[in-house]
Amino acid sequence: YFAKEARSGVEVYVAEKDRNSPERLNLLGDLRRAIGGSELTLHYQPKVGLVTGVVEGVEALLRWRHPVRGLVYPSDFIPLAEQSYLMRELTQHVIDVALEQAAEWWHRGIKVPVAINVSARDLLDPALPDLLEAGLRRLRLPSDAIQLEVTERILMTDQAYTADSVHALVRLGVPLALDDFGTGYSSLVRLQRLPVSEVKIDGSFVQRLGKSRDDERIVRSIVDLVRSLGLRSVAEGVETEEVAACLREMGCDAGQGWWFCEPMSAADVTTWLRERRMAADELPLCESAEVT
Ligand code: C2E
Ligand code: MG
Ligand code: MG
Ligand code: MG
Repeated sequence: YFAKEARSGVEVYVAEKDRNSPERLNLLGDLRRAIGGSELTLHYQPKVGLVTGVVEGVEALLRWRHPVRGLVYPSDFIPLAEQSYLMRELTQHVIDVALEQAAEWWHRGIKVPVAINVSARDLLDPALPDLLEAGLRRLRLPSDAIQLEVTERILMTDQAYTADSVHALVRLGVPLALDDFGTGYSSLVRLQRLPVSEVKIDGSFVQRLGKSRDDERIVRSIVDLVRSLGLRSVAEGVETEEVAACLREMGCDAGQGWWFCEPMSAADVTTWLRERRMAADELPLCESAEVT
């Protein structure tokens, strides 16, 4: 048993280290064939207001139903794709699917912005704003019917706030969220200069609330900082009621995690949103996103 474990550990290690390992090339080849087909789907996970209970958006998360390997999660193929020419194609595919889904919801009166994860290189791609603008126009969607989530690491570089693509996105009016905040050694001064409207606190800190005093202090100071900059705070990885209560007490705006619901298929999340809306006594599902 242990020998087997050890060997599979070595295999993973080799696959990550060697850019041309057969394992890696196989997976990339499979991914290339999967793009545009039915193996890749998006799941959606709501962001829920901690005080209001209002659904403020849903995040699109990529899933790959590999014919042999079964369900493959993004952490197993996004980093690979990011180092290849495939990432661009993959992102375009994700944007196409997410925009279609956003339009379906939006035009049926379910006005929840769909958050799309983009990787660093995508954000700097000069074609990205045009691609989004064309999609939004074709589907008759306002620019705040979507949102882009970008990890802290890229937005914190000088490159990011001098990039034409970032300025074009801001002009287009697509809101940006800083993802996985707390993991990238950001300076607070920089946060203030970035064109983001939302900061997502990384799940690794959130999950230890109530167990670790240090993480409690970190999360509290991020929440305070984000509020003082006039931005919204969203906590990732909220798994328990205790953690949700703790975040609410800190004044965190919204939460996302298994405590509210796991990422679900588009059909399941539609049902979830409907039932929730009915339970909320016909309250508007997403007040902040109502078009006026
Ligand atoms: P992320 O954007 O920070 O997404 C949050 C991750 O936390 C997701 O993992 C989600 O399924 C997971 N999660 C949600 N609630 C909980 C919880 O209560 N507890 C715990 N432990 N985890 C929770 P997932 O779906 O495996 O995605 C991992 C990462 O892959 C994402 O992190 C994102 O950076 C990236 N990713 C996902 N989809 C895409 C995509 O379409 N494009 C790009 N470029 N990256 C993507
Ligand atoms: Mg994200
Ligand atoms: Mg995140
Ligand atoms: Mg994360």
